[in-house]
Amino acid sequence: MTTTARALQAPSAKAPLEPTTIERRALGETDVAIDVKFCGICHSDIHQVDADWGRKIFPMVPGHEITGVVTAVGAGVTRHAEGDRVGVGCFVDSCGECEWCVAGEEHFCAKGVVATYNGKGYDGEPTLGGYSTHIVVDERFVLRIPDGLELDVAAPLLCAGITMYNPLKRWGAGPGKQVAIVGMGGLGHVGVQLAAAMGAEVTVLSQTLSKEADGRKFGASAYYATADGSAFKELRGRFDLIVNTVSANLPLDAYISTLKPRGALVSVGLPTEPDTFHAGSLIGRDKILSGSNVGGLPLHQEMLDFCAEHGVAAAIELIGADGVNEAYPRVVSSDVRYRFVIDVGSLG
Ligand SMILES: [Zn+2]
Ligand SMILES: [Zn+2]
Repeated sequence: MTTTARALQAPSAKAPLEPTTIERRALGETDVAIDVKFCGICHSDIHQVDADWGRKIFPMVPGHEITGVVTAVGAGVTRHAEGDRVGVGCFVDSCGECEWCVAGEEHFCAKGVVATYNGKGYDGEPTLGGYSTHIVVDERFVLRIPDGLELDVAAPLLCAGITMYNPLKRWGAGPGKQVAIVGMGGLGHVGVQLAAAMGAEVTVLSQTLSKEADGRKFGASAYYATADGSAFKELRGRFDLIVNTVSANLPLDAYISTLKPRGALVSVGLPTEPDTFHAGSLIGRDKILSGSNVGGLPLHQEMLDFCAEHGVAAAIELIGADGVNEAYPRVVSSDVRYRFVIDVGSLG
């Protein structure tokens, strides 16, 4: 039997979000039904509602930073039980059989991973996201939220957290390593905390020094304003790893110059225009330019457990469902410290 949920939907591209009622699929054998408590507002929600990235299925219910409580489980569910505190991130299905799924890297699924919203399920139905009171998700894609993490500040970890944890882990952030985080927004403020908790020495590279006090509170030991070009001269050859969270085009050669030999610059922000850089900036000292996009399910769980153990959480501004349309332009102008989270219960 299908169930209904209250939701916030964008009826068409760039339209304001409005309350509506949606249908959720009947609970399948391996499905988990979740009473959604909180959902973070990711900058990509706004890009999707604005139809900036190609695929667009309207009406659209955004939201892929979801936390809540399990209300029912299918007969074959083994990993979760009623009452469990859980989370759902950027995807809700994958083939489960290809080399990537078998390796726990579902985000690379050869058949195509199913996005939590603005996607199509393997059943052909459009997916609807977490700006809604209930969601039904296959148990494989439901993460456990550890006791030490409150559900509101945990929600942004399901996208922002894994987006930062993956490149930091993969490229060896840890004791003795110099790590730079470019940008101190929704992603950056979590990245600073994670890198510091991993034991790395963390530097923030931000346009201005306006968030320096926060950056140091999150664990950074140095903070530079990049609008002042002299920083690059001073930082030449400093970093083992730079994670770039900014979605504007940056002068990449200048950033690459701050890497050590064999250092890596990893981008997780997505500019709309192509980037330019000089291959010579990489060649002389075997430097690496890379990208990273969320991570697989086992890494999601590892990240959540790590955050609970080390006291890492998003700094949030909690809003009601009626505040989302005012929040969107503030996300675009970086006027939030540091992530909006919707109190989904206010949808009623
Ligand atoms: Zn996101
Ligand atoms: Zn697969």
